[in-house]
Amino acid sequence: MSVICVGTMAFDTIETPFGKAERIVGGSGTYVAYAAGNFVKPIQQISIVGYDFPQDEMNELKKRGVELDGVEIVKDKKSFFWSGKYHMDMNSRDTLVTDLNVLEDFNPKVPDSYQGAEFLMLGNLMPKLQLSVINQLKKRPKLIVMDTMNFWMDIAMDDLKEVLKKVDVLLVNDAEARQLSDELSLVKAARLIMDMGPKFLIIKKGEHGALLFHEEHVFFAPALPLEEVFDPTGAGDTFAGGFIGHLAKTKDISFGNMKTAIIVGSAMASFCVEKFGPERLKEITKEDIDARLSEFVQLVNFDIDLV
Ligand code: AMP
Repeated sequence: MSVICVGTMAFDTIETPFGKAERIVGGSGTYVAYAAGNFVKPIQQISIVGYDFPQDEMNELKKRGVELDGVEIVKDKKSFFWSGKYHMDMNSRDTLVTDLNVLEDFNPKVPDSYQGAEFLMLGNLMPKLQLSVINQLKKRPKLIVMDTMNFWMDIAMDDLKEVLKKVDVLLVNDAEARQLSDELSLVKAARLIMDMGPKFLIIKKGEHGALLFHEEHVFFAPALPLEEVFDPTGAGDTFAGGFIGHLAKTKDISFGNMKTAIIVGSAMASFCVEKFGPERLKEITKEDIDARLSEFVQLVNFDIDLV
């Protein structure tokens, strides 16, 4: 079972109340691949990097079953660069810099060896490029999941709405759901967004968990209350990687299994925030993930006698 994963592979400079990390490896595609690789192989990566992206990181990804045939390396340009600063509550951040660099003239090509993949994860990237990947696939995947962010809503809303018509699941945070729908109530926003195309909608609420909407149903997954959140960067992408990884592993795309998948996504995201960048994701084992999933079961398990 293969999963195609599209997204940025980047350098990030991150400031949190706990410190600053300069030019560390990041990118939506990087986080998705590290997370999803725990559940399914191969992950077929589509991205672009410049001359400066570390070979060590590529090797590390390969070691985890990530195929890089679809990652273009541009010899005379720099990799995508993003810089952000988190507020005291760590739930919100300001983007300080977005340097597209190699992304400016990226024209993703789906390698022949990727054709036939049953799952497609469109990580956060220019909507036009997300659409181009969908259109290059000869057979529609069983499930297309899309992530995006306010940056693309600000500058490419029309393109984004075109992609929305073609995807099954959309992941956004609460502010983005409101921006996309122009509606303050998240329940009303969800209905409006599902009318734009996706049959399933996940609204991430940072340390307050995530909501999964489908038709008239709604399900809530908490985030694990952690003593220390070091760096939330990539938590959304890691969530997406855990979510699609679980669905691909179990080959079940029912609403019931998506409930489990958002718990798996939340568990993976809870690791991501424990260290700067994707560092923590590289350390964890299957035992760590299973133990964390059990903590989630404990967190939401309760008995009630309704007499
Ligand atoms: P998240 O914290 O899950 O929203 O993802 C943060 C990651 O997304 C960082 O590692 C950035 O390199 C990457 N990123 C930031 N802005 C963009 C953008 N406009 N398009 C694609 N990736 C981005």
